Amino acid sequence: MNCLIFCHPDKINFVFEHLLAGELVFLFLGKPLGFAVTPLFLIVGAFWGFAPDILSYFLNRKLNYRSKFFHLHRDNLSHSIFLPLIIFLVILLIGGWKDSLLASLAALTHPLLDLFGIGYGVKLFLPFSNKTYKLFYRGKFIYVMRDNAAVEREVCRIGEDDWFDRSYITFNDKGLSWWWGVFEWTCLIIAINLPIFYFLK
Ligand SMILES: [Zn+2]
Repeated sequence: MNCLIFCHPDKINFVFEHLLAGELVFLFLGKPLGFAVTPLFLIVGAFWGFAPDILSYFLNRKLNYRSKFFHLHRDNLSHSIFLPLIIFLVILLIGGWKDSLLASLAALTHPLLDLFGIGYGVKLFLPFSNKTYKLFYRGKFIYVMRDNAAVEREVCRIGEDDWFDRSYITFNDKGLSWWWGVFEWTCLIIAINLPIFYFLK
C-alpha cells in the first residue's frame, strides 16, 4: 500500500483538512487560553489554518492551480515555517499574545500537514534554504529532503494535470484517491458543521 504513496506522490493534495486543523487548534486551545468558543472564533481558526494558501495565491497569481505544477504554490514564504513566526510577531504588536499564539499555531499546521506523506513536499525553510522536505510513512516515518531538479523530474514523470478532479470529484479506484477523497470531504463536512454546532448550542 505504501508503494502507492511513492508511486503517486502528487496525485492527492491536502486542501480541506487545513480548515479543520485550524478550527481544532482554536477549539482545543481556545478555552484553556480563556476564549469563548463561538462559531466566528472557529471560522477564524479555519481561516488561519488555510491562510498560507490564501497568501500563496496572491504571491503566485500566475500559477494554474489545477495543473500538475500546483505544488509550486508552496515555493514561497507562505509555506515556510517562518510565516507563523511573522504572524505571531505581527499580531503580538496589534493584539495580545494569546491571539498571536492561536493564529500562528493554526497557521503552523498548514506547512506541517503539507509536509506529510503525499504531495511533492514543502520548502520549509524559505528564504534561507531552497530544499524541499517531505515525510513518508512506511512502517515508520521516513524523512526525505530533495533538491528542485529532483522534484521537477518527478512532477514531469508522474504529475497529473487533472489531479483536483481525480482526487476530489471522481472517486476512482486508482491508487489512494477514493479513500483520500472521502477523508478530504469528511474534513470539510466536519469543518462546516463545527461552527454550526456551536451556533445551535
Ligand atoms: Zn498549502
